Amino acid sequence: MSGPVITPPLETRLQIEGGGYFPVRRVYCVGRNYADHTREMGGDPHREAPFFFSKPRDAVLQSETIAYPPATTDLHHEVELVLALGAGGMRLSPDEALSRVYGAAVGVDLTRRDLQVDAKAAGRPWDAAKGFDQSAPIGMLRPGPAPETGAITLSVNGVQRQSGNLKQMIWSGAEIIACLSILFELYPGDLIYTGTPAGVGAVAHGDVIDAHAASLPALRFEFV
Ligand code: MN
Repeated sequence: MSGPVITPPLETRLQIEGGGYFPVRRVYCVGRNYADHTREMGGDPHREAPFFFSKPRDAVLQSETIAYPPATTDLHHEVELVLALGAGGMRLSPDEALSRVYGAAVGVDLTRRDLQVDAKAAGRPWDAAKGFDQSAPIGMLRPGPAPETGAITLSVNGVQRQSGNLKQMIWSGAEIIACLSILFELYPGDLIYTGTPAGVGAVAHGDVIDAHAASLPALRFEFV
């Protein structure tokens, strides 16, 4: 038997504050979870069940440099609180869901907005808009309960673009995990990007991004 050599992808691991690594299993993302961002995207922010999409595991990375992706002229930043699960389950109550959280980090859901607009108009999937390489930068993971209040901000080259508060989330972290656990069996290593406040916008080569959520370890990277 001959053929191309298949090289298994490297494991995706996140650095944990204080030492050690967190192996990533899956990456779930929540759409429209802050009313002001829902409105800026042309939606109606009443409380419908959260909806989800995914990114590939190897889209996640902790790096000071992020490759500006191909095939877009409208790459958008979305700063988000990211929950990391240390245990899983199905059909979890919100209380059970909270007990599954291992820790939290600040992340950025990078989006090829032009491709997403086209996909929405054509009723097509979002994979190319959301799931490209290096589309999920993330900061250092802090173990312990995820913050439920506190500023969530993003600046580009020192100019603040996004500013919100975690308490403005339409669905709490516990509620998101509970909803997700109806659709999927959750496991340790799963990450959940929990949505972004208003102020999303385009970035360019050379831009430096600073992202913060409450007192979680800050995230800074440059597009190269
Ligand atoms: Mn997002």
